[in-house]
Amino acid sequence: MSVLRDLVEGIKGGSIEVVDLTAPLDESTPILMLPEPFGNTVPFKLEEISRYDDRGPGWYWNNISTGEHTGTHFDAPVHWVTARDGEDVSQVAPAKLLAPAVVLDFAAQAAADPDFLLEISHVTAWEQEHGPLPEGGWLLYRTGWDVRAHDQAEFLNANETGPHTPGISVECARYLAEETSIVGLGVETVGTDAGTAHSFDPAFPCHSFLLGAGKYGLTQLRNLDRLPATGAVVVAPPLPIIGGSGSPVRVLALVER
Ligand code: MN
Repeated sequence: MSVLRDLVEGIKGGSIEVVDLTAPLDESTPILMLPEPFGNTVPFKLEEISRYDDRGPGWYWNNISTGEHTGTHFDAPVHWVTARDGEDVSQVAPAKLLAPAVVLDFAAQAAADPDFLLEISHVTAWEQEHGPLPEGGWLLYRTGWDVRAHDQAEFLNANETGPHTPGISVECARYLAEETSIVGLGVETVGTDAGTAHSFDPAFPCHSFLLGAGKYGLTQLRNLDRLPATGAVVVAPPLPIIGGSGSPVRVLALVER
């Protein structure tokens, strides 16, 4: 197919740039911290099996331990109670994992107010300027939060009232889930919901409505500032973990230059 040949030539020749939207994974990669009495995920960890030594003279390898929802990761519908019979990560159709993406940039607003919430009016104003949200595509919500990803405390931005990170209002989450045909929502924060979303009604509306509608989530993205508002294509395949509610994922964007 000449389309695929053109794609490969474009990547080789530089007319298509591949932008990595993924946070590197190590023990310091920020993870969600839920208050008592809730269970929590473990940090990412490497455990050495051998490194060109007695345990394996010619080879180096590790076991890894990680949560499904560690670092840049994919949320499957079954992650939330509103989709308890929904898809797990292994059941997501491969063709849905390569999709167009648009970037809604609210970094300035989030810098001024860490509790900034995206509203329906923001989305419709964006659509007036750039056209409709892509059918079967990702809405990538840029808040500039990726600059904090080197530090767990800065990233979670918690005080005595809990975490303060930007997100999406209840009404807007419902709108994106029920009134748009996006495949999912991608964010730069630790989860798709705002830091204060534990106190919303319903709590965690992005998880509740979007996963409940069979849509997906992508978290802890970076480099969204290197993507155009429209026209990028995102590749975001989770591991096919049978029964998995989520999976770490390498997220790549193809951008025409
Ligand atoms: Mn998650």
